[in-house]
Amino acid sequence: MNQLALKTNDLGKSFGDVKAVEAFDITLNEGETLSLLGQSGCGKTTALRLIAGFEVADKGTIHLQSNIVSGPGTFVPPQNRSIGMVFQDYALFPHLDVYKNVEFGLGSKDEKSSAVREVIELVGLSGLESRFPHELSGGEQQRVALARALAPKPSLLLLDEPFSNLDATLRQQIRLEIHEILHQHKVTTVFVTHDQEEALLMGDLVTLMKAGKIEQTDTPEGIFNAPNSKYTAKFFGTTDFLPIQFSDASNQTELGFISRVNKPTDSTDLEIMLRPDNILISKDPDGIGTITNRFFQGDHWLFQIRLESGLILHSRTRDHNNYVPGLRVNVILNDNGKPFQLFKSKKQ
Ligand code: ATP
Repeated sequence: MNQLALKTNDLGKSFGDVKAVEAFDITLNEGETLSLLGQSGCGKTTALRLIAGFEVADKGTIHLQSNIVSGPGTFVPPQNRSIGMVFQDYALFPHLDVYKNVEFGLGSKDEKSSAVREVIELVGLSGLESRFPHELSGGEQQRVALARALAPKPSLLLLDEPFSNLDATLRQQIRLEIHEILHQHKVTTVFVTHDQEEALLMGDLVTLMKAGKIEQTDTPEGIFNAPNSKYTAKFFGTTDFLPIQFSDASNQTELGFISRVNKPTDSTDLEIMLRPDNILISKDPDGIGTITNRFFQGDHWLFQIRLESGLILHSRTRDHNNYVPGLRVNVILNDNGKPFQLFKSKKQ
């Protein structure tokens, strides 16, 4: 049976005229990780601070397990919420060594030493207990901050862009390690990021925010493959939209008939969503596309193709090193075994 860990209901917070968070509803079961994703200024940190109790909500309720910690007439202060938090800058105490940083905030002496040892081992820092923060790498500092947050065994862990100070390679390595630690030890976590790849990797659920409101919450596969708006679709990487006309017998696009699409009741002004791996190109002097640009992205090329109508599409492939701008190509759709997602062309 899933045990409820966190539930927010119609949560709202304004700063003057700015509605930082509005109608914010999330539900998280014990052991799950929710990635909170969105552009700068969309309200992610405010939502996290409301859950932690560093901000007081104007509206709505927050349940932690079965207890209301914030709601009309109720406000449980941060220190009584059993929440651990890791900030962007780690906020380690520079004058305390690793052991004392982790020990900070724990109760009795006996309880301390076993909890500190356990959690230092958990994050892979055994042997570094007597180092000071300035004697540690960025990744190690990050793990001290995590150990300190986990030591009191909080019922909820909040991570606010914890990897943003790490360089790209270290970031990839550390996030996999931390993902492993959180999942193995079933730590219920809300994880804030503005990086879509990180959100998909870390979360059992992903919540995308836009201008203070939740645009969509779903599993990583759900939000990527079945976005409920063009905004969500575009947030998760290069996405194109191809107009489609339905008639009684068939449907037509500039690239021909599409077999795998579910005809909607209102079939006017529609487009299908295309990811770069839905579009296959091959050299053809009579083809309907022309390559206008190409981008080398390590393990693949991303080609930009202009159709005769002027519409620009993108194709991803490992091949075609010799395809260059100006080349005419045939363009074929590949549905990857799934119906294409439809959107109203005017809806943004
Ligand atoms: P970022 O990714 O840049 O950290 P964010 O998604 O975390 O952004 P928030 O920090 O939650 O966004 O801010 C949401 C909105 O609320 C922004 O418009 C911000 O300027 C405003 N805001 C946040 N905190 C305050 C505050 N203490 N006083 C006034 N306005 C605030």
